[in-house]
Amino acid sequence: MREVHLPRSLEELWPLLDRRPRAALYAGGTDLLVRMGRGMENPAALVCLERIEELKGVNEHGDHIHIGSCTTHSRLLAHPLVQRHLPVLAQAVKTLGSPLIRNMGTIGGNLCTASPAGDTLPPLYVLEAEVELRSGGRVRRMPVRKFIRGPGVTCIEEGEILTGIRVKKPARDLLHHFEKVGRRNALACAVVSLAALIGFSPDGVVRRAALAWGSVGPTVVRCPEAEEALLGQRLSADTLQRAAALVREAVSPISDLRADEHYRRRVSGNLLLRLAERPRPGSSGIPPGCCSSK
Ligand SMILES: Cc1cc2nc3c(=O)[nH]c(=O)nc-3n(C[C@H](O)[C@H](O)[C@H](O)COP(=O)(O)OP(=O)(O)OC[C@H]3O[C@@H](n4cnc5c(N)ncnc54)[C@H](O)[C@@H]3O)c2cc1C
Repeated sequence: MREVHLPRSLEELWPLLDRRPRAALYAGGTDLLVRMGRGMENPAALVCLERIEELKGVNEHGDHIHIGSCTTHSRLLAHPLVQRHLPVLAQAVKTLGSPLIRNMGTIGGNLCTASPAGDTLPPLYVLEAEVELRSGGRVRRMPVRKFIRGPGVTCIEEGEILTGIRVKKPARDLLHHFEKVGRRNALACAVVSLAALIGFSPDGVVRRAALAWGSVGPTVVRCPEAEEALLGQRLSADTLQRAAALVREAVSPISDLRADEHYRRRVSGNLLLRLAERPRPGSSGIPPGCCSSK
């Protein structure tokens, strides 16, 4: 018989984790319970974080936004702070799973699963988000890009949980863009995805570019060469073609049942070309900070 624990507060959780250091944690269960159902994991005890209110919600602290790890994707999507300041994340969450999965699955679960196809990862990389990890007696903070060590591997230690994600509010005039290519329009894991945050000078040239791809390497891929190729340029087809060639060199995709390596490499560049079609923030009808979405 497997033990299942349902603590209602962090105060209840810490002694429980001391007594059951090897218990598997879960929040929505949409990854862990599926893996258990397939026989890929068989923990002796489960600790569900879903009832701990302190781990839920989105809050503003000065120039930062704090997202509780057990905030569901639906709640994130509906939150005005996310819509207003983090459209690149909202666009990604909109493509994640189905309404049912978004109602149960959490941002913390998506991060801790550390799948190269995890939809919230590329946006959190371009937003340079930080994670907050807590155990009974210690708090650690680190950038998301350091927290994710490889496919399915994070820096989390025994007795520790992910409590939240902290994001500095991006400047209001950035173009936020996320696009995911999957095998179908709904309920599809990313074959390739791209998150982009682009800032423009008043004369329309790029002054800042952050780009991150999902599903084309063991974890999220940044390509500083492509970012640099955009700086000081307009987002013309020629500029984007040059950057796309650099991206195709930088990625290291695998072939699997969803797509082969060559397709992923080609599409990772092609996704960048779409930026030429995106309306700029502040242009007709698009409020600053808001984004173009497919
Ligand atoms: C049908 C289906 C479709 C899906 N589609 C997508 C998709 O399109 N895109 C996508 O990215 N994902 C998709 N997923 C995967 C999944 O829904 C997401 O990754 C989701 O965000 C996981 O959140 P969760 O709370 O359910 O995670 P859980 O299953 O509860 O946990 C996942 C892992 O994270 C750990 N964990 C969870 N919370 C914490 C915490 N606070 N601290 C420490 N460890 C923690 C658990 O121990 C476990 O190892 C899909 C899943 C299903 C079943």
